[in-house]
Amino acid sequence: MKLIFEKSKPGRMGISLPDCDVPEKKIEELIPKNSLRSELRLPEVSEAEVVRHYTKLSTQNYGIDTGFYPLGSCTMKYNPKVNEEIAELPGFRSLHPVQDEELSQGALELMYNLEKILCEITGMDGFTLQPAAGAQGELAGLMMTKAYFEHRGERRTKIIVPDSSHGTNPASATLCGYESITIRSNEKGTVDLKELKKVLDGEVACIILTNPNTLGLFEEEILEITHIAHKRGALVYCDGANMNAFLGIARPGDMGFDIIHLNLHKTFSTPHGGGGPGSGPVGVKKSLVPFLPKPTIEKEKDRYRLDYDRPLSIGKIKTFYGNFGVMVKAYAYLRTLGPEGLREVAENAVLNANYLMKKLKSYYYLPFDRVCMHEFVLSGKRQLEEGVHTNDIAKRLLDYGFHAPTIYFPLIVSEAIMIEPTETESKETLDEFASAMIRIAKETEENPEIVKTAPHPTAEGGRTHPSTKGGRRRLDAVTAARRPNLRWKKLDK
Ligand SMILES: *Cc1c(COP(=O)(O)O)cnc(C)c1O
Repeated sequence: MKLIFEKSKPGRMGISLPDCDVPEKKIEELIPKNSLRSELRLPEVSEAEVVRHYTKLSTQNYGIDTGFYPLGSCTMKYNPKVNEEIAELPGFRSLHPVQDEELSQGALELMYNLEKILCEITGMDGFTLQPAAGAQGELAGLMMTKAYFEHRGERRTKIIVPDSSHGTNPASATLCGYESITIRSNEKGTVDLKELKKVLDGEVACIILTNPNTLGLFEEEILEITHIAHKRGALVYCDGANMNAFLGIARPGDMGFDIIHLNLHKTFSTPHGGGGPGSGPVGVKKSLVPFLPKPTIEKEKDRYRLDYDRPLSIGKIKTFYGNFGVMVKAYAYLRTLGPEGLREVAENAVLNANYLMKKLKSYYYLPFDRVCMHEFVLSGKRQLEEGVHTNDIAKRLLDYGFHAPTIYFPLIVSEAIMIEPTETESKETLDEFASAMIRIAKETEENPEIVKTAPHPTAEGGRTHPSTKGGRRRLDAVTAARRPNLRWKKLDK
């Protein structure tokens, strides 16, 4: 496909403006010279060319609006379009972030109510909506941890993370100046209590856990874990990025967690991937409320106001109040579903994952054969014996029209294939995906070459993944990583 710049023809235009009906002025009289560009290199194309160019581009990629997207740990679910429309209502969309509090009462009320609902769902006492992503939520949570211990005059330098943890957990700990200590999982795929007790000394500030963990397994000994952590004076952080596993069923606050972040852009109706705006609100128990980022939103009688007078706060961590549009969508989603609806979200997420796991487990090795939560992890090690790598299986799925699952993560499972079907897929879609996976397992035994050389530009089965359209084959990932060609191609004027 040509770049829009390559379609440019001098003088061609997408719109025609009416004649100017005010006296013309030279641009140099309006804009200081040092802010003026001498050459504005914009493509010159007609409206039809613009529309066709971007419509074509939009079909070159794979997205949740075009097909099933079973990427584990990512919750690539379908989100209701009506929530996008609500976020686009003029009152929300046109609100300026520095508009006076008095004129922003509706927005403040929405954020205040959203915080209260998130408190109720998670069992926490206070929330901040500022962080723009899960990882920034982790950082904010650990900054609060640090402020909490400094305020108590305690010096604690270590954070414990299990080896199954999401990569952002140890990264956030390091960024916050902590040393991260990794503990091994046990044969059940959960935290090994004996290992934990060995490293849990008076220098540990916090344990970061994902529950359910990245193997899709519920940490059944969570009450014991939070109990012994508290006995040693440490806090326990819940990475709640994948809250769709137990929404409305169990509350991290009741399990003894002190801090949690949620990913509104996974669980609560904002699509993600591609780097769009996200939101990673953080909830804390009472003892940590004074350390929340400021301003907080307070309600007095019927008025909402921003409170900047918070001496123990870790300060501001995001411009204005975070990504407001994402909050509007989350609020609309929560109010539409209500408590029963949210519980159903979790039940369906778990049901769908277990259904697929059962269908696939006689064809792929399942390292932890237990009831899973919202996702599960297979291993391609049986296929590896035929010389077929997990990467090949992922590429072969493209031939059958499916986006690949997460592969090679979590790191503790060799040849990992991490599948999260989400709550929004029908039984028919799950069956089609399972058939493709089973077919690939059979091909591996009968004709491994076809899997090893996937994707094929003219795949049978009729449904070709957009990335293989136009005869493209497997990318040379090694060359792309070692000798990337990042030069901006010089364009003809
Ligand atoms: C996605 C995810 C994160 C990180 O969230 P971002 O918004 O991408 O920063 C952290 N932990 C877990 C378990 C996740 O799935």
